[in-house]
Amino acid sequence: MTIFEKIAKREIPAKIIWEDDDAIAFHDVNPQAPVHVLIVPKKVIPRLSDAKESDRAILGKLLLVARDLAKKLGVEQSGYRVVINSGPNAGESVPHLHVHLLGKRALAWPPG
Ligand code: 5GP
Repeated sequence: MTIFEKIAKREIPAKIIWEDDDAIAFHDVNPQAPVHVLIVPKKVIPRLSDAKESDRAILGKLLLVARDLAKKLGVEQSGYRVVINSGPNAGESVPHLHVHLLGKRALAWPPG
């Protein structure tokens, strides 16, 4: 089971801020910005490269949840970044697809 499945099953603690049948969102344990939330599908897709055509709806949903949480967390106007790390060169560390929502500070571009 992935760390994120364990969080969804309440087997390890996390600051959960939103959940439905398809996905869950919680604060990152090692935040890289004052707002750093992870939005995770309950179905385990290891990474974006493994997503299938049948995952189209859940992939779209993750972005709409990011939009909604950005509003809820007060970064809609100031701006925010949505990130998916896929594979080693991107720094992926948890093999369970997730969307990072980062905000409440100015974020440099290009990323490191
Ligand atoms: P990745 O590097 O795979 O794109 O992102 C994984 C993220 O998961 C990292 O930002 C890391 O801090 C976060 N993370 C890893 N383990 C845990 C955990 O047990 N709880 C929470 N809330 N976040 C975690």
